Amino acid sequence: MEKLSAGAKKLGLSLSLSQLEQFSIYYQELVDWNQRLNLTRLTGYEEVQIKHFLDSLTVSLAWPPPKTNPSFRVIDVGTGAGMPGLPLKILFPDIRLVLLEATAKKAAFLHHLKDRLGLNNVEIVVGRAEEVAHQAEYRENFDMVLSRGVAPLVTLVELTLPFCLVGGNFIAQKKGNIESEIGQASHVVSLLGSKLRETIRVNLEEFTDERQLVIIDKVSRTPETYPRRSGIPAKRPLM
Ligand code: SAH
Repeated sequence: MEKLSAGAKKLGLSLSLSQLEQFSIYYQELVDWNQRLNLTRLTGYEEVQIKHFLDSLTVSLAWPPPKTNPSFRVIDVGTGAGMPGLPLKILFPDIRLVLLEATAKKAAFLHHLKDRLGLNNVEIVVGRAEEVAHQAEYRENFDMVLSRGVAPLVTLVELTLPFCLVGGNFIAQKKGNIESEIGQASHVVSLLGSKLRETIRVNLEEFTDERQLVIIDKVSRTPETYPRRSGIPAKRPLM
C-alpha cells in the first residue's frame, strides 16, 4: 500500500501499519469478489490504491473538526463496494457509518468486508435512497452525507440532502467541469433546505483529471415530499 501511504501523506494523513493492513485486506477482498460480482472495473494494485482508496480519503479535506467525535453520524449514499465510506471509516474509526446500497449482492460483499476488517459501528442498509430517506430512523439524522459516482448533482441532492441534519453537510465527490452541474442544481439545493458552501479542488499529482469536493450546508428542514418516488429524481430532475 505504498502508493496509498505516500498519497495520504500529501493530504496530511499518516496511516498506521494496521490501517494499511486493513486497506490491503480491502484490496484482496475487492479483487476476489469482483470475479463473481461486478463491483469495480479497476482491479490493478496501484490504480485501486489511488483511484479508489486515496480518492475516498480526499473527502477528509472537507471534514470538520473534531475528526474523531464518537457520535458523528455519516451516511454514504450509493456506496457500491464501499466508497468513499469504508476508507474513511478505516481513517476515522470512531465515526458511526451507514452504507446505503440498492443492490443486495453488493451489500453482501459489504457485510463480508465489515467482518474481515473487524469494524464496529458500520450499518449496511439495502434499499433505495428515495425510500430509505423517508424512514424516521434515517431521515435528517446524519451529520455528514457522502456520495461518489451516483448521479448528476441535480438528481443527487434530492437523494442525499433529506438524510442530512440541519447544521450538517453533504459532500459530493465530482470529476470534470462542475460549474454547469452546480448551476443546474442551485435552485434545487435551496428548495431542499440547503446552501452551497464551497467547492474544494483536489490538487494531487496522483490524479490526472480534475476532481473536486462540492460542500453543501443543510440550513433548514427538507420538505416531506422529497425525495420523490424511486426513479423520479433521475428521470425528472427538479429544475
Ligand atoms: N460510490 C461507489 C459506487 C458508485 S456506482 C463508488 O464511487 O465506487 C453507483 C452505486 O449507487 C451503485 O452501486 C448503485 O447500485 C447505487 N445506487 C444508484 N442509485 C441508488 C439509489 N437511488 N439508492 C441507493 N443506491 C443507489
